[in-house]
Amino acid sequence: MEYIIKTTKDQEFIDITPIINEAIRKKKIEEGIVVVFVPHTTAGITINENADPTVVEDILMMLNKVFPLEGDYRHLEGNSHAHIKASLMGSSCSLIIRNGKLRLGTWQGVYFCEFDGPRTRKIYIDIR
Ligand code: ZN
Repeated sequence: MEYIIKTTKDQEFIDITPIINEAIRKKKIEEGIVVVFVPHTTAGITINENADPTVVEDILMMLNKVFPLEGDYRHLEGNSHAHIKASLMGSSCSLIIRNGKLRLGTWQGVYFCEFDGPRTRKIYIDIR
């Protein structure tokens, strides 16, 4: 399954846990595995706390300190910071389905990470 996400900021973390749970519900699978893949080079995916929104704000703030927008980069497109952050976060995650839902930790959510937006993005969700 392919989902479209329209990001609205240059950089942001979007909680896509509800999208993944909805995909699982539609597929009517109780037990299994879901792979979520981001087919972009300047966006990524990560799992972290979704109770306190300042956690992902801090992650983004520190990523920007370590990999600032402007730097001694060689890539001519001018978005090297976004490529580096995307590689750090990764392009996919594999998750466990139990009782028809994602089996995450109490405080965990799955985040789509935009580093070069706003753009129309895709995520691929494959459920087995
Ligand atoms: Zn680039």
